[in-house]
Amino acid sequence: MIEKDDWRLIVIDDPERLKNIYINPTDGEEISQNAPHLKSCSFCLDSVNDNMHQKWFVTEDLSDCICEECYNDFKDMFKWNLLDGWDIEWFVKCPQCGGKLERTPYEQDYIYFCKKCNVLYSENLDDELDLPSEKT
Ligand SMILES: [Zn+2]
Ligand SMILES: [Zn+2]
Repeated sequence: MIEKDDWRLIVIDDPERLKNIYINPTDGEEISQNAPHLKSCSFCLDSVNDNMHQKWFVTEDLSDCICEECYNDFKDMFKWNLLDGWDIEWFVKCPQCGGKLERTPYEQDYIYFCKKCNVLYSENLDDELDLPSEKT
């Protein structure tokens, strides 16, 4: 049984938002490929590795990912509803407007574009990139 003052409940920001939500099972490889903005467990901060044998759980809105151990420890406390993981809608949220970003291959990498904000982001969403100037 997990105590209410478990250190992981202190690490996570605003745990209330994760109560009674739907959770999809996935793995480290899928997260690394489809949602690279998810880098670590929201509870224990364990890193996501690009590994299909590492089990992970993601929220439907892809705002958080949860490692297997934390999932098992907290599923009762948070009353999670486990989905089958078959139709995860992988998308990446714009850090500014929260809208869906479009993912585009770019050189060796991917970049993201928000139509609404007209902003390009680098793969880790840390940097805003300059829009390619339109050739006239
Ligand atoms: Zn964890
Ligand atoms: Zn946006």
